[in-house]
Amino acid sequence: MTLSDPIISIHGLGPKARDTLNAIGIYNLEHLLFHLPFRYQNKTHFTKLNKACVGDEILVQLTIDDVQIIPSRTHQMLCYLSGENGQRLLLRFFHFNQYQREQLTRGDIIQCFGEVKIGKDGLEMHHPEYRLISKGQATLLDKTLSPIYPLTGNIHQPQMKKWVDAAMDALKNSSLVDNFEQFTHSMPSLKQALSTLHHPQEDEDLDKIAQFRHIAQQRLIIEELCAQQLSLLKLKEQRKQKIANIFTIKDTLSNQLHQYLGFDLTKAQQRSIAEINVDLSSNHPMLRLLQGDVGSGKTIVAVFACLQAVENGFQAVVMAPTEILAHQHLQGFSDYLNPLNIEVAFLTGSQNASTRREQLEKIQSGGAQVVVGTHALFQESVEFSKLGLVIIDEQHKFGVHQRLSLAQKAHNTPHQLVMTATPIPRSLTMSAYADLDSSIIDELPPGRTPVQTVALSNERKGEVIDKIKQVCDANNQVYWVCTLIDESEALRAESATNTHLHLQENLPGLSVVLIHGRINKDEKTAIMQQFEQGEINVLVATTVIEVGVNVPNASLMVIENSERLGLAQLHQLRGRVGRGSDKSICILMYQPLLSRNATQRLDILRKTNDGFAIANKDLELRGPGEILGTQQTGVADMKIANVVRDGYLIEKARSYCEQFMQEDTIKQQALILRWISDDKSQYANT
Ligand code: ADP
Ligand code: MG
Repeated sequence: MTLSDPIISIHGLGPKARDTLNAIGIYNLEHLLFHLPFRYQNKTHFTKLNKACVGDEILVQLTIDDVQIIPSRTHQMLCYLSGENGQRLLLRFFHFNQYQREQLTRGDIIQCFGEVKIGKDGLEMHHPEYRLISKGQATLLDKTLSPIYPLTGNIHQPQMKKWVDAAMDALKNSSLVDNFEQFTHSMPSLKQALSTLHHPQEDEDLDKIAQFRHIAQQRLIIEELCAQQLSLLKLKEQRKQKIANIFTIKDTLSNQLHQYLGFDLTKAQQRSIAEINVDLSSNHPMLRLLQGDVGSGKTIVAVFACLQAVENGFQAVVMAPTEILAHQHLQGFSDYLNPLNIEVAFLTGSQNASTRREQLEKIQSGGAQVVVGTHALFQESVEFSKLGLVIIDEQHKFGVHQRLSLAQKAHNTPHQLVMTATPIPRSLTMSAYADLDSSIIDELPPGRTPVQTVALSNERKGEVIDKIKQVCDANNQVYWVCTLIDESEALRAESATNTHLHLQENLPGLSVVLIHGRINKDEKTAIMQQFEQGEINVLVATTVIEVGVNVPNASLMVIENSERLGLAQLHQLRGRVGRGSDKSICILMYQPLLSRNATQRLDILRKTNDGFAIANKDLELRGPGEILGTQQTGVADMKIANVVRDGYLIEKARSYCEQFMQEDTIKQQALILRWISDDKSQYANT
């Protein structure tokens, strides 16, 4: 067999399995070679239980002391094991057959391989792989690591291994194009690397292999990261070939704005504005990510970009992910722009027909130079007079496609600035967002006092209510956020309603108002305005207030059931306070008995206010797939690389990638195609 043979030619691989494998991009034997193990099982030695950690997968050899069947509803079989030096382990079988039950007998020597868990009386394994050595079964002890492959459909691990092995057999007498050869003088060849991954040899450093730190693995990881970045950089290059309007950087409006701004820009803000201006004055379209922590002052940077558009005779559009935020931006942008005689139009889905017509007219005629709105701006009926700049707030609520469709509303490709709600970990900026340029605001405006964060169990609600009274006595305001992960907005609203009633009862004399997703839009806007004007003391909200809201007089944030939210979301919510000069507090209330992951989340929030540190931890805890969401970025499902585990190799991959950008297109395409089945640069022009 040769590597280009279809997988159906493998003995024992039928049409059903072929279809299943085709669906994940595996058509021929070569594709199977690149179906790489994502972890290894290590059965090369026995481990003493006192050396094992919970969560480890280990091989042990012990003696059966007792076997019991629990005749409860769940009907479990328990098998008590012990060994020298007081080792004890409980095997727990939630399902088992008569044969197993008769086979496991007291006094047997048993080998078990499985994950160590902690039960109420000590260490346990559930449904381990096992062998009864004293009954003559073959040992589980292996000479080398066993690769574990990602599975799909109904395919089992042993089948997948057999088929990959068949491809490895075919590799022995074939040659395999190595697209990465130029960089691999000090590294194993492609053939060697694949062999180490699929068939680790006994004499290799098995610990390194198990941790994916072996040079053979590093070689492939770097190659894949390089291919992934290359596909995005190609996309960027293609985009840069499009023509954009050149803005001539002018200072008249900017200087006027500076004069009544009331504060000096931070160094980071100035740097970001300068970077944006360089892009705006080039003839290819800007696509820049503006990152900064909550409260770092991204808005004003966007305002300065708008001024350049306006001064060059173009319109700028600012798009927000929610109605509330769009209103805030309308307010914010108008405050800055109206004194400069710049008119701001406003467009959302909830406007009545006549308002809408009026706004559309201003947009189309060019009467409004800046337009603020929600995704309603995407609708076909919206026509711009001369769109030159698109600013999108809070990146991860939007998909790439939406970005593009707004870009199509301009004659030339408009410049685009994407503002993120919270910082993105550097490893993701370099990989998943490699097609974007990035400006980072890495300092907060001076005079901010960091928010003090405390975690309190839900049982201490009474103390929290006392704290609210104190804060309101000092004329500051309070957010109380209710979190319910329930899918139904009706149930969410109900729970928030109950909390609202409870708070009203316990805070007599204070204005406690409820806002949630089921309240109609006009009412929501009215409530937010009252809160901004200080007419409401305590705002009880579902997570609708998550992004962007800016009320500097609010100094206490209470988050109920905070254990249910992710780090980024909690940090974002906390960022609603600490915006004024008053000392602010964030109280994270939680249901007792926290999971380990939740404990870690609340701990990191208590320890730091640094959004970049929090973003990194978030990536580590949730993984890139969760963070990038539905966006098809390609880094969430790579063949071997993992941006969390392999973050330390990203820079190296980048430097190879930059060299690869100089190569001819065919060579680049070959590298990309080998690693990325869904190459986005193909779609760049659609
Ligand atoms: P975010 O980055 O979270 O979007 P905003 O743009 O909403 O932050 O800014 C938060 C607050 O900080 C606003 O009230 C804004 O006026 C203020 N601000 C922005 N830049 C500065 C600065 N350089 N000095 C003082 N205050 C600033
Ligand atoms: Mg903001």
